[in-house]
Amino acid sequence: MTIRPQYGHFINATFVDPVNGNYLDSINPDDQSVVTKIAAGSAEDVDKAVAAAKAASAAWADMRPLERGKIIARVGRMLEERMEEFCAAESAEMGVPGMGAFGAMATASNYFQYYGGIAASLQGEHIPVGPEQHSYTVHEPYGVVGVITPWNAPLNQACRGIAPALAVGNTVVHKPSEYTSATALMFAEMAVEAGLPEGVLNVVTGAGAEAGEALVRHDDVGKIAFTGSVRAGREIGKIAADKIMPVTLEMGGKSPDIIFEDANLEAALPGALFAFVANSGQICLAGTRILVQRSIVDTFSEMLAAAAKKMPIGRDAPFPSLGPIANEVQFNKVLDYFKVAESEGAKLVTGGKRAEGNGLENGFYVEPTIYVDVTNDMRIAREEIFGPVGVIIPFDTEEDAIAIANDTNYGLAAGLWTRDVSRAHRVSAKLQAGQIYVNYYLESGVEHPLGGYKQSGIGREKGVMALKQYTQTKNIIIKI
Ligand code: NAD
Repeated sequence: MTIRPQYGHFINATFVDPVNGNYLDSINPDDQSVVTKIAAGSAEDVDKAVAAAKAASAAWADMRPLERGKIIARVGRMLEERMEEFCAAESAEMGVPGMGAFGAMATASNYFQYYGGIAASLQGEHIPVGPEQHSYTVHEPYGVVGVITPWNAPLNQACRGIAPALAVGNTVVHKPSEYTSATALMFAEMAVEAGLPEGVLNVVTGAGAEAGEALVRHDDVGKIAFTGSVRAGREIGKIAADKIMPVTLEMGGKSPDIIFEDANLEAALPGALFAFVANSGQICLAGTRILVQRSIVDTFSEMLAAAAKKMPIGRDAPFPSLGPIANEVQFNKVLDYFKVAESEGAKLVTGGKRAEGNGLENGFYVEPTIYVDVTNDMRIAREEIFGPVGVIIPFDTEEDAIAIANDTNYGLAAGLWTRDVSRAHRVSAKLQAGQIYVNYYLESGVEHPLGGYKQSGIGREKGVMALKQYTQTKNIIIKI
C-alpha cells in the first residue's frame, strides 16, 4: 500500500470525488515536492460522510462489544504488519525521518489493539435503592463522532481518538489535517480490508474552516474529539456550545521541565534535550521551558547547548536525526520566533536559524535552538513555538520552580528531575498539568490518561478513562 497520486474522500468504504471538484497539494517538507493531492472538502462532502456514518451506526452499536473489539484489534495488527509502508508515507508527508516515524506509528497500532482488547470491559452499574425499584446504568454511544486531528503526528493522533470512539459503538467521520491526510486515507481503506464494516470509519479531507467547521456544525454529529491549536479549539467550543454538544479538546502546551540541583545530570541532560527536540519540537507535550536551579544553570546550559549542536539534521543523517518542520506556514512561524527572541533580549547559545548543508537546501529545516537569560514573561516563554526551541529559565528554590512552572495559560505536561523522592511527590502534587514525568520526559504508552489543565484542553484521551468519554450514561429505573 503506497500513497496514491490523488485521493477523494473515503465514504462508505469507497473513494469519492469532492462535490466541488477541487484538490489541494500535499507537500513534502524535505524537498517541497508534491506527495499527493487531497480532496478540498466542503459542507456537501461532510453531509455525505455523516449520512454514511449515521446509516452504519445502529448495526455497529448493536454488535456484541467482544466481536466489535476483535475487529478493532485486527485493524491494529494489520497496521503493525504494514508499518514500513505507513512510516514511509508519513515521512514523505510530514517529514519525520524514517526511523523516527516508527515510534508514533507503533503507538497508532497500539491504540487499536488496546481499545479492541478492552471494548467489552465497559460496564454499567446497579444502584441499590431497596426492593421496590431496580435501578441500573448503561453507557451508550453518541452515534456519529467527528474526530479532527493535526499534522504533527498524523496517524497517531487520529488513532487516539478513532479507536476508543469505535470501541464503544460510535461510527466516525475523521477530518485529518489538510497538510497530512494521506495516511488517514490509507488507514481507513486498510481498516475495511481488516473487517471494519462500510460506513463505520469515513474520512473527509480539506481545510479546517470548511470541512472541519462543517463537521462540527452538522446536526447529526453527537460529539467532537479535537486535537490541535487553542485557536481552533476555541472556535469549535463556541459552535459546540450553541449545539449543546460535548467536546474533547486536546490542545497545545508550553510545558516546564524542572532540573533540580540534586538531579542525576547524566540522565537529565539527554532527557531535557529529547523533551524539546523530539519530532523537531512539534509535540504538544514538548518540554520547552527548561527551569534550572541557579547553582547549576551555567554548567547545565553549556552542556545542553553542546549536545544540541551535535544533533544530526536531515532525513539521511544518522538516527536520531532532526527532520524538517512539517510545513511552510509552521516553518515561517518558527523563524519569526527567532526574531521575537532577539527583540526580547534573550541570549542565543545555539541555533536560532534555518539549518543549512548538504541536502537541506529545499527543506524546512531549522537548527535546534537554546536561549538563556530568559524570563517567564517573555513571549518565547509564554507562547507555543512548535519547533526545536528550548528556553532556559533559572530558579532559586523549590517554591520558585513551582510558581514559574505554573505561571502559564497552558497545563498539558510537566517534567521534573530530582533524586529526592519526597520532593518528587511534593512538586508533582503542586504542578498544574495533566501529565507529570519524574526523571524522564515524554510518555507514549496508550494506557496513561492524557489531557490538559487550563487552556491545554477539556476531557481526557488515552487509557480506560477515554472509553467513557465517548459514551453518554443512561439510568433505567424499574418499579418492582
Ligand atoms: P490546528 O488547530 O490549526 O488544526 C488542527 C485540525 O483542526 C486540522 O485538521 C484543521 O484543519 C482543523 N481546524 C482548524 N480550524 C478549524 C475550525 N475552525 N473548525 C474545525 N476544524 C478546524 O492545529 P495544527 O497546526 O494542525 O496542530 C498543531 C497544534 O496541535 C499545536 O497547538 C499542538 O500543541 C496541538 N496538538 C495537541 C495535542 C494534544 O494531545 N494535546 C497533540 C498534538 C498536537
